[in-house]
Amino acid sequence: MTEQVEQLEFQAEARQLLDLMIHSVYSNKDSFLRELISNASDALDKLRLEAFRNKDLDVDTSDLHIEIDIDKAARTLTIRDNGIGMTRDEVVGLIGTLAKSGTAELRQQLREAQNAAASEELIGQFGIGFYSSFMVADKVTLLTRKAGESSATRWESSGEGTYTVAAVDDAPQGTSVTLHLKPEDAEDELHDYTAEWKIRALVKQYSDFIGWPIRMQVERRSPATEDGGDEVVTVETETVNSMKALWARPKDEVSQEEYTEFYKHIAHAWDDPLEVIPMKAEGTFEYQALLFIPSHAPFDLFNQDARIGVQLYVRRVFIMADCEELLPPYLRFVKGVVDAADMSLNVSREILQQDRQIKAIRRRLTKRVLSTIKEMQSERPADYRTFWGQFGRVLKEGLLSDADNKDTLLAVSSFASTNSDEETTTLAEYVERMKEGQEQIFYATGESRQQLLSSPHLEAFKAKGYEVLLLTDPVDEVWVDMVPEFDGKRLQSVAKGEVDLGSEEDTSEAERSQLEQEFAGLLEWLQETLSDHVKEVRLSTRLTESPACLITDGFGITPALARMLQASGQTVPAEKRILELNPNHPLIVGLREGFGSRGGDDALAETAELLYGTALLAEGGTLDEPAKFAHLLAERLARTI
Ligand code: ADP
Ligand code: MG
Repeated sequence: MTEQVEQLEFQAEARQLLDLMIHSVYSNKDSFLRELISNASDALDKLRLEAFRNKDLDVDTSDLHIEIDIDKAARTLTIRDNGIGMTRDEVVGLIGTLAKSGTAELRQQLREAQNAAASEELIGQFGIGFYSSFMVADKVTLLTRKAGESSATRWESSGEGTYTVAAVDDAPQGTSVTLHLKPEDAEDELHDYTAEWKIRALVKQYSDFIGWPIRMQVERRSPATEDGGDEVVTVETETVNSMKALWARPKDEVSQEEYTEFYKHIAHAWDDPLEVIPMKAEGTFEYQALLFIPSHAPFDLFNQDARIGVQLYVRRVFIMADCEELLPPYLRFVKGVVDAADMSLNVSREILQQDRQIKAIRRRLTKRVLSTIKEMQSERPADYRTFWGQFGRVLKEGLLSDADNKDTLLAVSSFASTNSDEETTTLAEYVERMKEGQEQIFYATGESRQQLLSSPHLEAFKAKGYEVLLLTDPVDEVWVDMVPEFDGKRLQSVAKGEVDLGSEEDTSEAERSQLEQEFAGLLEWLQETLSDHVKEVRLSTRLTESPACLITDGFGITPALARMLQASGQTVPAEKRILELNPNHPLIVGLREGFGSRGGDDALAETAELLYGTALLAEGGTLDEPAKFAHLLAERLARTI
């Protein structure tokens, strides 16, 4: 029978990644073996589970294992498993395409990765599993037969743009990946992957904990005997990994390297973990867990369809990857394994959602991760800063959903503030720096530090030396409304409600009421004139330089929050704000005098429109009718020339 060979093209992103793999000099080429063994191990896990759930599946699961074959003459290395295998469509979908979410981000970053260091970073971040073969091979052949199917598929590629697939009649069940090793590595002793010692060392180093036997043909030499007998070489099969589940070993017997390699395997990650958390619980619900906090946020942390959650095992048997029920969504960056003692192997996602035991484990894991972060904060500040930079935005989501741990979450959170350009501050540190007589914690929310710093809302706070937290993550708009206070100090937005910044040194009570009287007529008229835009016009205590600013009511929705809610498809009631005027600004003084002598005429009404528009622009807002504003302004300017 003649084989039907089909040639297909890699998806664009996949092609770019391959290009990166082939041409970048990734500092650690050795890791290709870890990736292939990791895939083989996953495939065996999947088969065992499938065979357990589907008794009709016609497969032999009596000797599940991984095999590594070296062919020195042909300079090939083959990694074979008798696991779940792939159908033709799966091969095309899984190997020819990047199935991972967030390809848009990937494309963007690929475009930006101009130099070697950036490429390396990218490889590390995306964890390019199977494609890492092309770091050491100039041709890769994959032969695979899916469990329960009779026909197999051969896939072959040199990694340059295209690959071929062909149907094959007979192949053993499972997958074999044959690497045709690059000739340039042949002379390089450190990268000679046909050397038995090299492969053995790599398996030990990267994959010792794999729960399936990794077998290899090894040569045993018995030395030449003294009476002239020849050296005898025998070949035997040896299992090269210890297969010990890492989470079940006492932690003082496990090295940091072993933890790191295990993390890379289960998290499909290429970075080093920032923190390793081994756990063991006895009693009602017995389980062991090994959790990791990564040192880099994955690119899809905010994608709805990202793979999140830890792996669930029951008595050493893999049950599922991405078990979301074991940790709250705001800890979705945590990776690891939970091995429960008393649970059915048949457990399904539906059952998990209801399960009391899972809920208890989840509570414990959550507390433990949070206390670890707290410890890191006080004992390893540099690591904590890394952590916060990568995952702070996600952790703060917990302030919305996890009332039980709110205090701990507040304690481990840190924020940018006007106190320092570089360093973030905790709320406790803020409270320590509070001015004599200050009773509130002031904060500003918005889109960027720069925008906030130049917003009129901050003027008086800056002038009077009050520290203000600068909150620029989207989640900040929401949690501040749900956290009324910290350590007995109310959280107060600089753009909301009335603020009292202790007025001893400027206006006295008497001066104040005189001002109110002088402005009463103007304020009333302005409120009338601008009633389409604002619900009140009043004098301000928070302005020192700008003529006016817009303030949200104590419980009102800020414009940024309104934009966020609208973006997520919710309807937000239109809410008018309060216009506050700076009674010391020449423009406001002029307005008052003009109003006093002429009353509210058309020219003053235009000025009022412009005043409102400028206040909106100054805080980074957008005008409803920009053209009208521009027209008014141009006319005014023309008259001044
Ligand atoms: P990842 O392992 O992170 O998903 P890879 O690039 O390593 O990414 O592999 C892509 C996919 O190809 C895997 O998720 C798996 O579905 C499939 N695959 C790879 N190797 C094998 C194998 N040996 N057996 C079965 N499926 C495999
Ligand atoms: Mg993989």
